[in-house]
Amino acid sequence: MPTQLCCFDAVIVATGAQPVKLPVPGGDNKNVLIGVDVLDGKTEEPKGNIVVVGGGLIGTEVAVDYGIRTGNNVTIVEMLPRIMSDCSDSDNIVYSQMIAEHNIKVMTSARVVEINSEGVIVDCKGKKLVPADYVIIAVGMKPQSELYTQLENSDLEVISVGDCVQTGKIYDAIHTGYKAGLRI
Ligand SMILES: Cc1cc2nc3c(=O)[nH]c(=O)nc-3n(C[C@H](O)[C@H](O)[C@H](O)COP(=O)(O)OP(=O)(O)OC[C@H]3O[C@@H](n4cnc5c(N)ncnc54)[C@H](O)[C@@H]3O)c2cc1C
Repeated sequence: MPTQLCCFDAVIVATGAQPVKLPVPGGDNKNVLIGVDVLDGKTEEPKGNIVVVGGGLIGTEVAVDYGIRTGNNVTIVEMLPRIMSDCSDSDNIVYSQMIAEHNIKVMTSARVVEINSEGVIVDCKGKKLVPADYVIIAVGMKPQSELYTQLENSDLEVISVGDCVQTGKIYDAIHTGYKAGLRI
């Protein structure tokens, strides 16, 4: 066991989740940004023609954030038949109104299959190019469970909570954290 762990009896791992990358040709191009990083202000500012890949809560938030800024032309591409299928009714009402007011385009039942220097190739009853200066990826989050995996076979009691078990909401993280606290 690493020496720095010897003075603990239990560890609660709450390392959260990390964004999923889009595994398509061009997914690592310079103009491809990660939605969570854009929201956190960790990237250059996307401008001009912006395609947001993924119409869940994060994709919709980032699309609205940049779609309300003058000079931007934002398109959300979502492979499901509708966007915001994982969102609350209140989010749906507010964001739908902003999407309509700011002419944010929405393509549903549409899958991005390639990113190139001109934009994204979308398969939507046939392949078409959607021009893009920037492509923002918001195709989901995956649990960051490596630390839990490293520790689970040690002599310590190790409990993982929150998004590193299964991505969810703040309520789920607090609730699983509370239950872990009761167990130790
Ligand atoms: C853009 C976005 C918007 C969201 N909006 C909402 C919302 O409106 N309502 C809602 O209920 N939920 C929302 N969620 C979900 C919510 O944020 C998460 O469910 C919640 O934060 C999970 O809590 P957590 O403590 O498990 O993980 P996190 O809050 O992700 O915290 C994990 C922390 O662990 C740190 N960490 C990771 N690895 C290590 C390590 N090895 N050592 C030390 N520290 C480490 C990370 O840096 C991070 O600070 C949103 C999520 C995102 C990404």
